[in-house]
Amino acid sequence: MLLVILVTVVHLLYHQEYAETAIPNDCFAVSAATGETALPKQVCLTFDDGPSSNTQPLLDILAREKVPATFFVCAQDINQEYLPLVRTIQQQGHQVAMHSATHRYATIYRSPEAFWQDIKTLRQALEPYLSLEDLTWLRFPGGSTNTVSHKYGGSGIMKTLKAQTEEKGWHWIDWNVCGEDATASHPDADRILRNIQEDAEDLTTCVVLLHDTKATGETVKALPQIIGWFREKGYTFCTVEQLAELQSSRE
Ligand SMILES: [Zn+2]
Repeated sequence: MLLVILVTVVHLLYHQEYAETAIPNDCFAVSAATGETALPKQVCLTFDDGPSSNTQPLLDILAREKVPATFFVCAQDINQEYLPLVRTIQQQGHQVAMHSATHRYATIYRSPEAFWQDIKTLRQALEPYLSLEDLTWLRFPGGSTNTVSHKYGGSGIMKTLKAQTEEKGWHWIDWNVCGEDATASHPDADRILRNIQEDAEDLTTCVVLLHDTKATGETVKALPQIIGWFREKGYTFCTVEQLAELQSSRE
């Protein structure tokens, strides 16, 4: 069977995250894989910018539905008290992955050195709760094709950071479906579901961007319907790591 994995990089969206994160964030949607119709339909639910008070309710739903997910976590002042939850996340079969300690674009994208310092800080903050060896996946704040970083670190910074990630033997991933749940328009659960349905249409492999910040309570409300919709459409759920394993086994 001919299996073609197309990795597309598409600037789909731009939005501002909630003020609660204290950092402007743009949501450039991006890459994942699409394939031929014969491929099994896979979906990765991913939650960025947590953990927060909304993480446990999300975990409860995921446990009830027996759905694995991936959490790209931060270690900001605002979510420090929830950091021990990363252990629970992992113990329940989900993947914990790196996002950023501070999530401050002006700081992290100033230079490659500044970026890796931030990641080091993040890993140190997570070290009490899990094995750092398990942290090999990264999602760049703003996505790998963001242009906001150019303002601070020059136009080549993302290319450098992607190469350096791979040199470390780590992996990075963007998304191709965006719930737009952390936008300033504060979408309700129905809108979040519709955003996902619109983006996911015709995709064999979906990497869905959602958030588990204090401000994204509507995401919690939307999650059962999101899971139900993907199930109805014949998708199976996996973590980002599992998706990569599946894809490499097909090559
Ligand atoms: Zn983020």
